Amino acid sequence: MITFDDKIKKNFGFGCMRLPTCDGEIDYTKFSQMIDTFMEAGFNYFDTAHGYHGGKSEIALRECLTKRYDREEYVLVNKLSNFCFESEADIRPFFENQLKWCGVDYFDIYLMHAQDKNNFKKYKECRAYETAFNLKKEGKVKHVGLSFHDTADVLDEILTTYPEIEIVQLQFNYIDYDDASVQGKLNYEVCVKHNKPVIVMEPVRGGSLVNIPPAAQMIFDGLKGGSNASYAIRYAAGFPNIVMTLSGMGNIDMLLDNVGYMKNFKPLNEAEQEAVKEVCKIIKAQNLISCTDCKYCVGGCPQNIPIPTFFACLNSQKSYGGWGSKMYYEIHASGGVKASDCIGCGVCEKICPQHLEIRDLLKEVAAEFEK
Ligand code: SF4
Ligand code: SF4
Repeated sequence: MITFDDKIKKNFGFGCMRLPTCDGEIDYTKFSQMIDTFMEAGFNYFDTAHGYHGGKSEIALRECLTKRYDREEYVLVNKLSNFCFESEADIRPFFENQLKWCGVDYFDIYLMHAQDKNNFKKYKECRAYETAFNLKKEGKVKHVGLSFHDTADVLDEILTTYPEIEIVQLQFNYIDYDDASVQGKLNYEVCVKHNKPVIVMEPVRGGSLVNIPPAAQMIFDGLKGGSNASYAIRYAAGFPNIVMTLSGMGNIDMLLDNVGYMKNFKPLNEAEQEAVKEVCKIIKAQNLISCTDCKYCVGGCPQNIPIPTFFACLNSQKSYGGWGSKMYYEIHASGGVKASDCIGCGVCEKICPQHLEIRDLLKEVAAEFEK
């Protein structure tokens, strides 16, 4: 495992997007208790963004963390989100407000938030990366990075365009590792190629890897060890280029479970790795489209429809419900090509080795995500 910044005490961080609430407001008493427990256990990394809790996550961090601890004791990460600026001139005033909302005079890491091909175009045009690099020169940001949701070729383009980027935050978990839409493995490999350490977001896939099918549960129960979340988080944290794994913790029980096994982190052993593989197979067996992502169909499509990627989104939707799949569909369709653009020529079906009825399946995709 590599080290990114000596100030980061451990490889597990507090994602502040699902904080404890009471009557719709963040519960400062509970949040403060969680922070104290987290810090006492030797952890010190906190991740936020302006959109979390509609801007209230930043304020809660000021009230519960930054007013109560010395600046050197914690690592605070914030992000520049797409909806927070329309031009280069908007970025600095917004950033200064973020410092005020959080009650600090610098961020340890500042991420260009949720980069994909379209967002990257806007960030480039508005010189967002250049602005962040200048903030670093001024000491208002210690490190500049990005968080990412798109295909590996787009990540490669961003890291090639801006080699000054120091760190990348990826959606990475045992289900998305070889998912054609999320591309966890491929994106991780791009980071390795560019020598960028990785922060993991959604290691438990928005909580969906906690509630797994009964047959999968029996496999984890057979290990007589940790919680379902523990296997998901330790799986992600065990990759050598991963310096930080985040969990969006909403209550003290979740936090106690997480700090219990991450305090003295051990990667999954061989038996646990095997169990995760089996669980993964069971979860994936719920998928209804047996597309193998061979991509044979893609090149010949006159409409340039990313067929396997759209199928991965529908499979994800069927397996896990609403979480994330629609967002990924919209990202992949945002280049202007939707499932409903299929003209029914049938070229793809002639080449598909799985003999899938691609035209009908694309209608299902469109019905699910374009309604
Ligand atoms: S049937 Fe639709 S998806 Fe298949 S090649 Fe033709 S346009 Fe593309
Ligand atoms: S050819 Fe068939 S199996 Fe291969 S990616 Fe296309 S739909 Fe999937």
